[in-house]
Amino acid sequence: MRVINFNAGPAGLPLPALERAQKEFVEFGKTGMSIMEHSHRGKDYDAVHNEAIALLKELLDVPETHEVIFMQGGAHLQFSLIPMNFLPKGKSADYISTGHWSKMAISEAKALSSIVGDVHVPVSTEVDGKFTRIPKQDEIHVDPNAAYVHYTSNNTIYGTQWHYTPDVGNVPLVCDMSSDFIWKKFDVSKYALAYAGAQKNIGPSGVVVLIAKKDFINSGRSDLSKTLKISTYMEKNSLFNTPPTFAIYMVRNVLSWVKDMGGIDAIHARNMKKGEILYGALDAMSDFYKSPVEKDSRSYMNVVFRLPTEELEAKFVAEAKENNMVGLKGHRAVGGIRASIYNAVSVENIEALVSFMEKFKKANS
Ligand SMILES: *Cc1c(COP(=O)(O)O)cnc(C)c1O
Repeated sequence: MRVINFNAGPAGLPLPALERAQKEFVEFGKTGMSIMEHSHRGKDYDAVHNEAIALLKELLDVPETHEVIFMQGGAHLQFSLIPMNFLPKGKSADYISTGHWSKMAISEAKALSSIVGDVHVPVSTEVDGKFTRIPKQDEIHVDPNAAYVHYTSNNTIYGTQWHYTPDVGNVPLVCDMSSDFIWKKFDVSKYALAYAGAQKNIGPSGVVVLIAKKDFINSGRSDLSKTLKISTYMEKNSLFNTPPTFAIYMVRNVLSWVKDMGGIDAIHARNMKKGEILYGALDAMSDFYKSPVEKDSRSYMNVVFRLPTEELEAKFVAEAKENNMVGLKGHRAVGGIRASIYNAVSVENIEALVSFMEKFKKANS
């Protein structure tokens, strides 16, 4: 029996994408083998690989100026590769700090200070070691000569999310979209580079998706090994070396499900409804459940809240599990409860959670 999965990542996948994989697992098509056993240079895998890329381009209206790239090493490797490729010595890059992963991107870039340029933080919303909000546009003063501006569109741990694209003038905009990639359509043309580890919203772990402006990628430094140059992966259609073929196959299945659901606008409408139901419940029961996040910064992917005591929080997690709901424990850095409600989570799943929350409150207050 499948549970209602509120895991933060790796996260729940849409059942139709899993069932399709189950059906095709031992023999892919009429090829006599699993997709995992195919050569990454063969026509059967090639069709899957190109279908995944084409689906993403179609679903997001990716313009001709941009390319889809698959890489490995997760979002973490991008924290290093982005400065290595695009932050030459003598220049600086602006990193907007809104949470744990922003800080990780900053510290990884700074760790490379002997080979890359400087890292500046034009704005941070950290107060007493915590983040509860996204900065307003008028708080963001980027250096017009910066190599790029980096930000994190959704703060997975703190439960905050950008509900606008920061205006950074002509400076290339780079974004870690790991935990809200394709939760909603975005204007790809505004970004020099958007990247996302797949394991939150579009597939299993093992692959990271980049949507990159070709000119930006080609402007990267050339004195790196092929493996460390992002341009290599773009030139080779993400087939420079053996890609994570099964993970990309699963991304294909998930994107094909998104298309069957009516595309990203339909997924977005469903996500808005989910968020409204869950935040509506938190607001209605605010004498018991407390959201630490400022209202206009609320994340529609990771909903965090506190109960009156830590003992009650532990009881909440345990009883939710007895009711078939898992993954609700907050990140160890912040505690509390976190419901990760990515694209694969349904409105019915949220209704089940809210009804459990109502019962739990009644029994414990
Ligand atoms: C999960 C997460 C990461 C880390 O991703 P890995 O693929 O494990 O490197 C980075 N950024 C954000 C916003 C995340 O949610």
